[in-house]
This record gives sequence, C-alpha cells and structure tokens, in this order.
Amino acid sequence: MIVENDTAAAWVWPRCAVATTLTAAELSGLHMLRERVGAPPHTGVACELAAGHDQMHAAFVVADDGGDRWWWIRWSRQGRELSHLDICHHAHQPTGDDCLLPATHPGRHSFQM
Ligand SMILES: [Zn+2]
Ligand SMILES: [Zn+2]
Repeated sequence: MIVENDTAAAWVWPRCAVATTLTAAELSGLHMLRERVGAPPHTGVACELAAGHDQMHAAFVVADDGGDRWWWIRWSRQGRELSHLDICHHAHQPTGDDCLLPATHPGRHSFQM
C-alpha cells in the first residue's frame, strides 16, 4: 500500500501561464509613467493567475508612483485592458506571505501556487 502525504501537495497549483505581448501603444503609455520603477517588458508576459481561472488573464507589467502603484495587462479573446489595480489584501497564515495578485482576481491566491 502506498500512502501519500498530500498536505503539502494541496497547496501546489499551477499558474495559467498563457502569454501575451504588449502592443506598441501600451508600451509607449507605460514609458510615460512618472516615478516608474523598472522598465515595461518588451517581450511576452505570462498570466499569473491560477490555472483554470475565470475572467480575463492578468500579468503584472510595471510599477509607478515610486513602486506603490502596480500596472497590469488583462486580456481575453474579447479584448485587452491596461490599468493599475489595487493589490489583493489576503495574506497566508501563519507564514504572512502576501498575495501579489490584483484585488479582484479569480482563482487561488499567489501564496497558494
Ligand atoms: Zn490566465
Ligand atoms: Zn489574492
């Protein structure tokens, strides 16, 4: 008989990882941000949500406002939207890991993947 301990495995969940590439217009908009931290990605970005999620794909692109405001590209077959979104307010107990996804994200929190 094989007994598997699945307490750890229960927290392992793949990310969606569908990729997109920012358009020239999106990139030029991001380059205009003030107090930008880092550079917008010129290659593809991958969806950071949990595999099998509802709603649009979402990937972090860059922060501005000295790092306090996070910009995300969200996309689906119906369209795409570049906007800054508040961060999810969930944290993992007892490790204290914060969820690093947008506040209204579907699916699992980042600390559950
Ligand atoms: Zn996705
Ligand atoms: Zn979350």
